Amino acid sequence: MSESDQNKAIEEYKGSCICPTCPTWNKCAKDANEKLFCVTGKSADCISEIKGCMCPTCPLAQSLDVGITHNCYCVKGSEMEQRG
Ligand code: SF4
Ligand code: SF4
Repeated sequence: MSESDQNKAIEEYKGSCICPTCPTWNKCAKDANEKLFCVTGKSADCISEIKGCMCPTCPLAQSLDVGITHNCYCVKGSEMEQRG
């Protein structure tokens, strides 16, 4: 997949990410269009403290069979990173 196709896919998946319903997500993350941390990894500058995590209930995560064993991706890193 080319980089532009990858970026397009990421933007599409961001539409299904439910981080905006999470108490941990904040205005900084919103303004920076930060979502889909399970794929893209930790929040760059916006989120450092977990106040809850919606990932275990995320339909996108469930469809990919992730979000239960690992989650809190915005602080702990992507699924790939957490799997080591
Ligand atoms: S698992 Fe979490 S980070 Fe990934 S799309 Fe769902 S809500 Fe967003
Ligand atoms: S990754 Fe989890 S903890 Fe972080 S904002 Fe998304 S739902 Fe909330």
